[in-house]
Amino acid sequence: MVIVMNPKATEKDIANVTETLKCLGLGVHISKGAHVTIIGVIGNKSILAGTPLELMPGVDKIVHIMESYKLASRTFKPEPSVIRVGDVSIGGKELAIIAGPCAVESEEQLLKIARAVKKSGAQFLRGGAYKPRTSPYAFQGLEEDGYKLLAQAREETGLLIVSEVISANSVEMALKYVDVVQIGARNMQNFQLLREVGRSGCPVVLKRGLAATIEEWINAAEYIMKEGNYNIILCERGIRTYETYTRNTLDISAVPVVKQISHLPIIVDPSHGTGKWSLVEPMAMAAIAAGADGLMIEVHHDPKCALSDGPQSITPENFDRLVQRISKLAPIVDRQYNLAH
Ligand code: PEP
Ligand code: MN
Repeated sequence: MVIVMNPKATEKDIANVTETLKCLGLGVHISKGAHVTIIGVIGNKSILAGTPLELMPGVDKIVHIMESYKLASRTFKPEPSVIRVGDVSIGGKELAIIAGPCAVESEEQLLKIARAVKKSGAQFLRGGAYKPRTSPYAFQGLEEDGYKLLAQAREETGLLIVSEVISANSVEMALKYVDVVQIGARNMQNFQLLREVGRSGCPVVLKRGLAATIEEWINAAEYIMKEGNYNIILCERGIRTYETYTRNTLDISAVPVVKQISHLPIIVDPSHGTGKWSLVEPMAMAAIAAGADGLMIEVHHDPKCALSDGPQSITPENFDRLVQRISKLAPIVDRQYNLAH
């Protein structure tokens, strides 16, 4: 349920309503828009039976949210959310580009790729330090040393760092090194991890699960928001279907669907979405044309020797071309991409 306040409601009216709700033991989340304030109410609403909230000063109307998620819904917050990381915003007019290797392999590898993607205009460097691989025998990542190399690359290039966390008890450690934590597809429903990232308040890229519906995915975001962390960027990375030509089926329609039902920004990862480097650029263009707020792209200077996801990694030269094309496409869909980051 949400309480939509009147545009003329005063701070005192808002405080009166929130106090009343809190006294009844209900959770309160406030969304202050340009004109109206909306109060999200979480908990057992039957307790409100004898409290005519609609009669309280400043209350415009009460709206019951039918969806299983509340705080992530457009009803709770009609304006799109813009997530700020350092001096970059995600979800506004400017697109966001996150690029880098699938896995941090060595200092030399990471710095080479970081310098290249920075030169092409990326704002964020990605790189996995913990790699939850399908096979336990595949490269599992450099762990904390990988985070340290990412922090070193930030020092040198100024790129903001995005890297995956795979367990609730390593979130605090990850935040010593990274600007944005990534929750991977395999952990989308690791509820302990979602809650911990929620409590940390840090910006988070939440990937769609391997076979998750859009509703399950938004509910995963709701777990994080319920703990008070609204800094969530959804990332469509393809889902499992019967098609085997591509590694996953990139659900481009999820972009406008998410925009309709949620205020959270959404980016697209065409690397994992297709599994083939030659499909990355066309699907990146499709994602931005569909309204995505940004991209996550795997880049490797020597894809055939990459320790993970080489077949879907594009070279720095191809990444440069992709960014140029995205910056030309952006104004056509009322966005912008400034190449001089
Ligand atoms: C990754 O970004 O390297 C990754 C493992 O992605 P996903 O969780 O989408 O498979
Ligand atoms: Mn990968």
